[in-house]
Amino acid sequence: MLPPQLIQSLEGIKGFNRKAFEDVHISGEQVTSIRLNPEKQTLIEQEHRSTVDLRLSTAVPWCEHGFYLTERPSFTFDPLFHAGAYYVQEASSMFLWEMLKQTIGTSSQQKVLDLCAAPGGKSTLLASYFTDGLVVSNEVIKSRAAILTENCIKWGADNIIVTNNDPKDFQRLQNFFDVIVIDAPCSGSGLFRKDPTAVNEWSEENVKLCSLRQQRIAADVLPALKQNGILIYSTCSYSKQEDEDVLDWIVEELKVASCRLQVDPNWKIVEVESDKHKAFGYRFYPDQIKGEGFFIAAFRKTNGEEDAYHQEQTLQFPGKQELLQLRSFIPLPETYAVFKQAEALRAIKEIWVTALKQLAKHLYIKKAGVELGTIKGKDFIPSHELAVSMIGLESFAAIELSKEDALQYLKRKEFSTDAPKGWTLVKYGGLPLGWIKVLPNRINNYYPQEWRILKD
Ligand code: SAM
Repeated sequence: MLPPQLIQSLEGIKGFNRKAFEDVHISGEQVTSIRLNPEKQTLIEQEHRSTVDLRLSTAVPWCEHGFYLTERPSFTFDPLFHAGAYYVQEASSMFLWEMLKQTIGTSSQQKVLDLCAAPGGKSTLLASYFTDGLVVSNEVIKSRAAILTENCIKWGADNIIVTNNDPKDFQRLQNFFDVIVIDAPCSGSGLFRKDPTAVNEWSEENVKLCSLRQQRIAADVLPALKQNGILIYSTCSYSKQEDEDVLDWIVEELKVASCRLQVDPNWKIVEVESDKHKAFGYRFYPDQIKGEGFFIAAFRKTNGEEDAYHQEQTLQFPGKQELLQLRSFIPLPETYAVFKQAEALRAIKEIWVTALKQLAKHLYIKKAGVELGTIKGKDFIPSHELAVSMIGLESFAAIELSKEDALQYLKRKEFSTDAPKGWTLVKYGGLPLGWIKVLPNRINNYYPQEWRILKD
């Protein structure tokens, strides 16, 4: 049952229809949606598109790569899911795509911060939107930063840097980002239909605490936004205290201007305004749209300065010999720079090296660019990240597995192959899953131990 105090607090809010709202929660209807990885779609062989067969699906109207599935398949047992062909994402939150289209458009080389990023739904969307940009994907909780890193690696994007920092750490990067997304921790009422047990954790007291935390997070991170930069704020809560009231607080305390969007009336998204400063917000009610409860708003910063960073920080770079050796193993495009993290060689687009140096000085970086591998004497040990990236794989032997063998591989169990000796890329449906090393008497499976499928 929905908390009566929540229902009471929503009476009078634009778009709230008590009967329809309660009915849609009782119905328990489940909406399943995925967002395709545009960078990997062309690689997938036609006959392997079974799970992501979109012939019967309808498009999510506000995100060009989003689709509703007619039923919820077992994603765990779809190798393409593990290969980063798509991300299972709630449809309402894909509206971020439309918001970016209307506020940023096609501006190039944007530096973007996704401040509350785990498990990575918004970050993978941002990486696909800003293909020539740099996405800093941050999660403050260490254990959640691990799943975020995993999802970003599987997405295969070379433009994501994963960090594990507190929002206030970003104050050291004054006027650095063009876009900051705060997908704030919230009381979670928007997901009650999907997860009815979450109702038990809801309380008015928690709504208040969340609202205060949301204000603190926004205040902590705003100095890192550039003049004219865009701040996007979202929650999956229906509570005005966490939505419109936070917008009012942001306008008042942080001196930003609200952005209004043009929203197609057929989408049934409800435009609202905050009480005091008339800041625009967009509400998603599950009885009106095909998706879960969501709230999103955008602001433009009006009192910042241009990027003030020019000083160089130290990153470790490989020597000439090591670079030559690396290039003999991988045909790395000239647009990439190579740097080192411990022994591992990593690649990032040359244009982002200065930004990375600045970030490295101030933040705890869990992952930047793509880990290529390690040179050991005359050998090159390729990394898993290289396998699922789209960089320089042409020089490696590759084999295509059946679905059965692909699942065995993803479980780190045995399967047979007549692949040649040495490092071989394992593929399913044309998409790389990871590495094996074929030895004279056995095959070593290099799929990351901690990501293996545990279910049978
Ligand atoms: N953006 C994510 C996505 O699309 O997949 C979902 C983010 S979830 C709504 C909010 C995140 O904020 C959680 O991962 C949570 O761990 C993190 N968080 C919790 N407390 C926080 C705090 N005080 N500051 C910043 N982030 C926090």
